Amino acid sequence: MAVIKKNICHCGLTGKDYRSCCGLYHTGARVTDRSPLEVLMSRYSAFCESNGEYLLKTWHPDFRPDTTAKKFSREIKNGGKWVKLKVYGVLVNPERTEAMIRYELSYRDASGVVRSTCVSNFVFEDGRWFYTDEAENTDMNALPPELDSADTVRAELDLIAG
Ligand SMILES: [Zn+2]
Repeated sequence: MAVIKKNICHCGLTGKDYRSCCGLYHTGARVTDRSPLEVLMSRYSAFCESNGEYLLKTWHPDFRPDTTAKKFSREIKNGGKWVKLKVYGVLVNPERTEAMIRYELSYRDASGVVRSTCVSNFVFEDGRWFYTDEAENTDMNALPPELDSADTVRAELDLIAG
């Protein structure tokens, strides 16, 4: 029996296809004004699409690497393949000006699939969320409970959908 497989967006978070999910951010039809999760998912998809320009645009200017969009895109294209994003939890301060997200990336290179767990920092500035950097010295055994809470992920996804 033929199975019609819907093309789910790279990020896999909304169940929508790329064009109605992260593609909206990449074309500029939507901006990351609702949730830091928008930045994480659309940046993950930008890695899948080798879109260096979008990655630089959503990277806070104080933390952005000194490279050009073209060079950055080429670097990504020559790297391994991003295969999965799994989000464990989102911690946002009450003012919604700063956030941390804990997630797992799966990446395939010549040696096979490599998984790495990351905690990234985000800030809200000039009406939108930006990625800044990786959290330093994160003690994975003493994480705030929000960083291991599927409820926090669902709450942010609701903000994006609404
Ligand atoms: Zn997406």
